[in-house]
Amino acid sequence: MSAKIIDGRAVAARIRSEVAAGVEEFVAATGRRPGLATVLVGDDPGSQVYVAGKQKACREVGMEAFDRRLPATVTAELLADELHALNADDAVSGVLLQLPLPDGLEGSQLTALISPEKDVDGLTPVNVGLLSIGRPGLRPCTPLGVMELLAEADVELQGAEAVVVGRSNLFGKPMAQLLLEANATVTTCHSRTRDLQAVCSRAGVLIVAAGRPRMVKGDFVAPGATVIDVGMNRLTPEEAHNKSGLVGDVDFAAAAEVASAITPVPGGVGPMTIAMLLCNTLEAARLQHPQRVAGRETAAHAR
Ligand code: NAP
Repeated sequence: MSAKIIDGRAVAARIRSEVAAGVEEFVAATGRRPGLATVLVGDDPGSQVYVAGKQKACREVGMEAFDRRLPATVTAELLADELHALNADDAVSGVLLQLPLPDGLEGSQLTALISPEKDVDGLTPVNVGLLSIGRPGLRPCTPLGVMELLAEADVELQGAEAVVVGRSNLFGKPMAQLLLEANATVTTCHSRTRDLQAVCSRAGVLIVAAGRPRMVKGDFVAPGATVIDVGMNRLTPEEAHNKSGLVGDVDFAAAAEVASAITPVPGGVGPMTIAMLLCNTLEAARLQHPQRVAGRETAAHAR
């Protein structure tokens, strides 16, 4: 293997400790503690695990964590009332509606009810619009985490040929826009792209989020490229060749022979999402405070 491994766990740990320091500075300056409210509807086991992780991470950096649970049978009206109440609650700096919602509830319509200044997932139409016109706003956590990993690996984005595989609202589209904001030349691929291998193999920065285990082979990667694997696919430990059963969208062993730097799965992009959620919650608390308390910007926030 020739590629340098980009260690997401180490970067996420550093960011969490910086957020913890920022929280204490915020408390000292304002007498208030930033708080994140998670809203979980129904009892999907995967979502329960994600929400528990977010709650724990908040407490570890000294933030308040508010845990709202509603039954899968809740009406859209009652869920909307809950979101409006959190929007109005001064103790709550950030509101996160855990997706996907149970059948019958429309995730994007309900997410849109979160106040833009508390939208720590960066998914409301206002924040999506601010990103698309290059104005400051809260950005989606996973693409923001990728920007931090690229900064950590000292990847020059200005003028770089960047290819993003995937065009979801959650990841692919905001990722492409953050790269564009950083002056990369950006191509977005999707399931109808004609020759994926040819497009990927011209990338200096290749970011893959298709949800297809090991779809990107070694010959998709240009020599010396930086490869960021966002995919999180659950297989059996035998199929995955590791204990976690998680594999990415990139054939890691083959790509690592050609790339100059690459993220592993697990331990690459995954840990960054919660770290950036904590950053966004602190950022939201600062922006909501009347004096707009100054503080550390992440590399991605600063671009
Ligand atoms: P998604 O909404 O299912 O979107 C997948 C995208 O990939 C779509 O745009 C789709 O194209 C494209 N695609 C699918 N098959 C393809 C193919 N054969 N060739 C080219 N493009 C293809 O998924 P997502 O939410 O963006 O997530 C993608 C992956 O990232 C998943 O594995 C997910 O678990 C992972 N993820 C990880 C994190 C994290 O915290 N680490 C966060 C978010 C997502 P069409 O639009 O044409 O259908």
